Amino acid sequence: MSGKETVSQAGESVAWRHHHVLDVDDFSTAEIELVMQTADAMKDVLSRPIRKVPALRGKTVFTVFYEASTRTRGSFEAAAKNLSADVVNITAQSSSVTKGESLIDTLNTLEAIGADIIVMRHPLSGAHYCAAPYVKANLLNAGDGWHAHPTQALLDLYTMRRHKMSVNGLKVAIVGDIKHSRVAHSNIWCLSKMGAKVTLCAPPTLLPAGMDDPQGRFPDVNVTTDINAALQDADVVMCLRLQKERMQSGLLPGLREFTSGYQLNKERLALAKPDAIVMHPGPVNEDVELAGDVLHGPRSMVNEQVANGVAVRMALLYLLSGSKEL
Ligand code: ASP
Repeated sequence: MSGKETVSQAGESVAWRHHHVLDVDDFSTAEIELVMQTADAMKDVLSRPIRKVPALRGKTVFTVFYEASTRTRGSFEAAAKNLSADVVNITAQSSSVTKGESLIDTLNTLEAIGADIIVMRHPLSGAHYCAAPYVKANLLNAGDGWHAHPTQALLDLYTMRRHKMSVNGLKVAIVGDIKHSRVAHSNIWCLSKMGAKVTLCAPPTLLPAGMDDPQGRFPDVNVTTDINAALQDADVVMCLRLQKERMQSGLLPGLREFTSGYQLNKERLALAKPDAIVMHPGPVNEDVELAGDVLHGPRSMVNEQVANGVAVRMALLYLLSGSKEL
């Protein structure tokens, strides 16, 4: 078995087959396992005194961010550099998009400069899907609008597994602004596929339509507006940021009502299992969706999620590159 394969539950070996990573909805469980195992190998690299391997030597990774980012952009850049790739960072303000160039023309220009892998964040849901057929380089989705954030879902899964071994059968409560959250959408796919029991909890105006349909795509996902029911016996509590930049007015009476009804604080966390972990993809609105003492408390995985993001993004860059060296 090479480093690009894993063994499925049925015993057959599964090879990496993705040219682009646009979301996790087209990943099989065995492919998710392959990412997890590769991330373990990357975690090992990151524990060495010199955190660098030659796997992507001679390859060029472009990060193209049309939206703000600290964690995702920084960790992709660190991940690519740890694998010895050359890295070029482009932001919307400094790109020819401001002069009217189309997205596809911009990406083709980056390929002409020498991009092997393009890591892109875009404010429009589906932007990557429109561009992907015209891009020969590997396209990696670092977030598209409200739609998907596959590397966040994979790093969240990786973090859960480091504490809980497997997520199969675990109750994962996702609380907050689910409607506008690409993190929630990718996590619902990924966690459901891996056997977790996902409960979504938000005020009715911040819940996406159609999630509680037993005949729908996610028959095992529970939806509730009652935070106590969501937190009861949860193994993992994932809080989400209020996406004020995406919100139309009128979805919430006010911040205070949201905080009093949906903030994860110590009292509410006591409803979850005693060993429940607390997660948040960041950036956190401290004392809005997550109380400061829980955010900085011992059950908070927020910084660990960020650290694991480097290993998981190294794994994806490595798998996409087709490199055989580690
Ligand atoms: N950083 C995550 C994202 O880009 C979560 C957030 O912004 O709230 O979607």
